Amino acid sequence: MNELDILKSIAENLSERKSTAALNNYEVLCNNIKYVNDLLLGGANFLMKIQVQIDTAFKNNDFVSSEFKDSSKKCFYFRTIIPRILLNNINIIEKFVSYTQPDDRIGITVETVGTLKKDFLDFNNLVTSARQFIDSLISDAYQLTLLDPKETNFQVLTSLNSFNKYATNSIRQALFNLDIQNSLAEFENLAYNQRVRGHVSSITKCDQKSFGEKVDFLFNNLRLTADTDFKKEIKNLFSFSSEFTHIGYVSTFFTGSNTSEVIFRDDIGPYLPSTENFSELKYEILETATKFFVRVYLPSVQDSLKKSFKQDTFKIFESSIDQIISKITADLKTKNNQYYFFIKQGLVGSQETIDLTCMCGTTKHWKPPHDLTNIYCKKCGSEFKLIEIEGDPGYIITSNGPIKVIGSSVPDFDELPTEKKIELLKQCEEIIHKQKK
Ligand SMILES: [Zn+2]
Repeated sequence: MNELDILKSIAENLSERKSTAALNNYEVLCNNIKYVNDLLLGGANFLMKIQVQIDTAFKNNDFVSSEFKDSSKKCFYFRTIIPRILLNNINIIEKFVSYTQPDDRIGITVETVGTLKKDFLDFNNLVTSARQFIDSLISDAYQLTLLDPKETNFQVLTSLNSFNKYATNSIRQALFNLDIQNSLAEFENLAYNQRVRGHVSSITKCDQKSFGEKVDFLFNNLRLTADTDFKKEIKNLFSFSSEFTHIGYVSTFFTGSNTSEVIFRDDIGPYLPSTENFSELKYEILETATKFFVRVYLPSVQDSLKKSFKQDTFKIFESSIDQIISKITADLKTKNNQYYFFIKQGLVGSQETIDLTCMCGTTKHWKPPHDLTNIYCKKCGSEFKLIEIEGDPGYIITSNGPIKVIGSSVPDFDELPTEKKIELLKQCEEIIHKQKK
């Protein structure tokens, strides 16, 4: 191909946007978005309570470790900086949560379905808040892990220096006291390699300059090096969101189309393909961000507290943060699974409605004709697989205990008289003993 062939392919593909097909189930997407969004918000609220306790604990000399005791020690000033970083991060998480809420479809009709349309502004707000989330939390997790005065000085002075270049006098005077102005002046006098490239100076340094280097550093520190896929996912979200934030050609083109859309409809009401595509992206970003929050960010916060506090004080904060990590990790696992149901042969395809109760507690009333391409839980997105059993089999003993085969002419296990329950459980016991031999 020569340069004109390439330009022709760009002109043809990017100047006339093909209508994007609906990629997934909109209702399931909205439910999943609400589920993960609630989880992250719950985590941020809990972290807020812990932040207040941390702030209080830092004010007490009895709780902090020796490096934090008095102003002659290297880490003394982190006693106010750490709670401030946490508070900033919580604000950023809350902003991200507000941009990743599920669509409100209440009262939407064919006439008002246009209000669900997602345009350039929506895409830009979503992706920019994701960018801010991932970028700030990585930078701050890096600072929290190091607790190195020169590294913190470099990050803050770099930011203040950019701000200072364009801020008006009144803002500058309101924010910068004489001390900080003197610090800035000293920073501006550093050699280029020190001020821009982060080479070590008498007041600053930055060992891991780029986003990618900071991610690698944090994964090494948390011994997550084997998790290469997740590390790549975080770096990919960063590149993707940078393209949007800097208003790259592809993102503006993709989201700026004015063509009218076909209207889709599901059990709740009408919706548009662009709304569904937007939700799909929102869900993906939300899931990556939430996984990052529990796997990288919170463990880095724990790391920082371990250095800051004496052992018994640290243990209290460690277990509070562990609660957030284990709740979110466990709750993320229960959705988008595959569940198997034992079912009496001949029931599928009959005239009966089949009730399938998902692990999340939602029951799907599967009406005839039983469409086998379409069995999943609308609440959590889990897929249902059926295993057909001949005759009238009653119960099946599984690793989760006795389970009634759907459609069998026996009562549910819960409704059995106690002696029958014990009889079945004895059979389970025998099988367990046999398996052990
Ligand atoms: Zn479910």
